[in-house]
Amino acid sequence: MTKNVPEIFGSKVFNDEVMRKKLPKDIYRALMKTIEDGLHLQLDLANVVAEAMKDWATENGATHFTHWFQPMTGVTAEKHDSFISPEAGGRVIMEFSGKELVKGEPDASSFPSGGLRATFEARGYTAWDPTSYAFIKDDCLCIPTAFCSYSGEALDKKTPLLRSMQALDKAAMRALKLFGNEDASRVITTVGPEQEYFLIDMEVYKKRPDLIYTGRTLFGSRPPKGQELDDHYFGKIKPRVKEFMADLDEELWKLGIYAKTEHNEVAPAQHELAPVFSTTNIATDHNQLTMELLKTVAQRHGMACLLHEKPFAGVNGSGKHNNWSISTDTGMNLLEPGDTPSRNAQFLLFLTAVIKAVDDYQGLLRMSVATAGNDHRLGANEAPPAIMSVFLGEELEAVLQSIEDGTDYHDKKKKLMSIGAAVLPHIPKDTTDRNRTSPFAFTGNKFEFRSLGSNDSIAGCNIVLNTIVAEALNEYADILEKAENFDEALSELIKSEIAAHKRILFNGNGYSQEWVEEAEKRGLLNLHSTPEALKQFTEPKNMEVFIKNGVYTESEILARKEILFENYYKTINIEAQTLAMMARRNILGAVLKFEKQLADTINAKKAASSSAVTSIEEKHLNRIAVLLENMQTRLEALEKDMEKEESMSDVEELAVYHRETIESSMHSLREVIDELERLVPLDIWPYPTYGQMLYSVR
Ligand code: ADP
Ligand code: MG
Repeated sequence: MTKNVPEIFGSKVFNDEVMRKKLPKDIYRALMKTIEDGLHLQLDLANVVAEAMKDWATENGATHFTHWFQPMTGVTAEKHDSFISPEAGGRVIMEFSGKELVKGEPDASSFPSGGLRATFEARGYTAWDPTSYAFIKDDCLCIPTAFCSYSGEALDKKTPLLRSMQALDKAAMRALKLFGNEDASRVITTVGPEQEYFLIDMEVYKKRPDLIYTGRTLFGSRPPKGQELDDHYFGKIKPRVKEFMADLDEELWKLGIYAKTEHNEVAPAQHELAPVFSTTNIATDHNQLTMELLKTVAQRHGMACLLHEKPFAGVNGSGKHNNWSISTDTGMNLLEPGDTPSRNAQFLLFLTAVIKAVDDYQGLLRMSVATAGNDHRLGANEAPPAIMSVFLGEELEAVLQSIEDGTDYHDKKKKLMSIGAAVLPHIPKDTTDRNRTSPFAFTGNKFEFRSLGSNDSIAGCNIVLNTIVAEALNEYADILEKAENFDEALSELIKSEIAAHKRILFNGNGYSQEWVEEAEKRGLLNLHSTPEALKQFTEPKNMEVFIKNGVYTESEILARKEILFENYYKTINIEAQTLAMMARRNILGAVLKFEKQLADTINAKKAASSSAVTSIEEKHLNRIAVLLENMQTRLEALEKDMEKEESMSDVEELAVYHRETIESSMHSLREVIDELERLVPLDIWPYPTYGQMLYSVR
């Protein structure tokens, strides 16, 4: 069946086209103006918009509405209310008021607040973010909203993201004005997040409580074939997966999500989806929706979609690539080298600001991708190291070098003159995309931040990116606005900034041990684990950049840090409980059963005495007995470790304890379970193996 994609696209979105059609002209214009100016919606205006929204939604089958928001749990939240309103005579009408559109009052008490609720109000409210369109999902009109406490503290991921976009807008506009750029009235950041995931058959998924409770396998020995032949990457997509992808695309398109590229990834059963980029807050909303739809559509096709960063040990885990750029409302990409000297000078200033930001706030960027799941990937030779660095490609780095040295840049006879009249060499896109080992790579007209975990909201890293680049641009604007000779001051600034921050530039192999040593010499941070990374949040310099740019208040930072630590240790705690439960309840029993079978065979043979007991059987039995003993000891050790944490209450202490003690106890228990799995016959082993899971979809 052929699909009419343009007709499907955005069919479930209350987008600009629908608004134009459904709203009276003056109301439409007033709404657009409110959005552009970032003002609050007047109630009379909101009433008209709400009415139109409800009419459109009910025409499209919706019966309910919800304020859709992103609390700090990392997933989205919704509470459905129906449109019905009682009428005389036991009848109902469908109603939706402006008040209901702009503000909701969900009970905030069960969402993480990191202590903000204890010190402030117990209730929270949600407020419409009119820059992200309302949409229909499961017959429910979803209104994208920000979620705050009554005293205005952000309790979600959207509020600080919008604040950070504002900070960047202000700073970048200052910088643009310096170049005499008067056309643009707003600067936005754009993001295209590439999303990796695994698909396995629902039947095997259901048999693994570890996947159900924790999203990853807590044990499992490697199958004979993993990813070593590289035959899955970009390989032919299996029919069942293809059907899933087609269905998924359609669902995403209906929601106005520009799903564009779908392909197989490196590991067996691993795939990737890339959308066309959009503004950061919309890209963030869309990525949350994409993750949700990946799961529901997979289910419809009898499969489970695993979004965990490391569902299987021994094969690659999943990440997310945050392609990020800055552009004006007139469509000028500020991270794209231009055709004119002035555009190039401007490009160099923005480029330098990004380099400075990454160098000055390495700790914050590292923190923004720190989760229990991502700890399994970063620095494990499948994902960028835990060290932040910037890859520019040889050409651009040579340009910067020549600026620093004050020499001409020679490339096929092209010369780089003073910055004010810079002629940059054309930088072919493909020369910048080769180094896959860099966490932060310039790819022609954007930066690709590759350290994100597949399961994480992209809000976190974009809040940091926007804020730190805003800070750098403001610092530059402070200097340049005062300059008597702009060109000279600009040249001087870029030159000294390159010298000051070039330690963060690295074009080599980010996976190598030499880089770890070199980075240490350069004084770069290498934060191995989430607890180490999270501590960065409250470094004085890091707190200041958020507070100064109006992105977080001090109490919001402290609250968030608490939540992140809590989330980290609780995640590991659930894993430990799950592993102990699976080991004690089923694995132990299965191994005992096999042990008994072996013993019975030996005894039977002994009794029959005609055939002698072979040494193979006894050897096997002995090996099993030794492993069983080991397993029991290690399981008890883990259980004891888990009891000890009951005496701790400080979240940082708990986090470190889980990292250092619980994780290593889990690891040593896993080792013996994996060895047992290799010895016990499949019909006795109680759980699907890696091979059975990774090759379950045909
Ligand atoms: P490839 O990496 O396959 O060459 P692209 O470089 O075109 O593909 O894009 C990779 C991702 O980067 C896509 O999600 C794309 O939408 C996104 N992207 C492209 N340009 C920008 C931009 N200016 N801002 C943000 N994301 C972008
Ligand atoms: Mg990429």
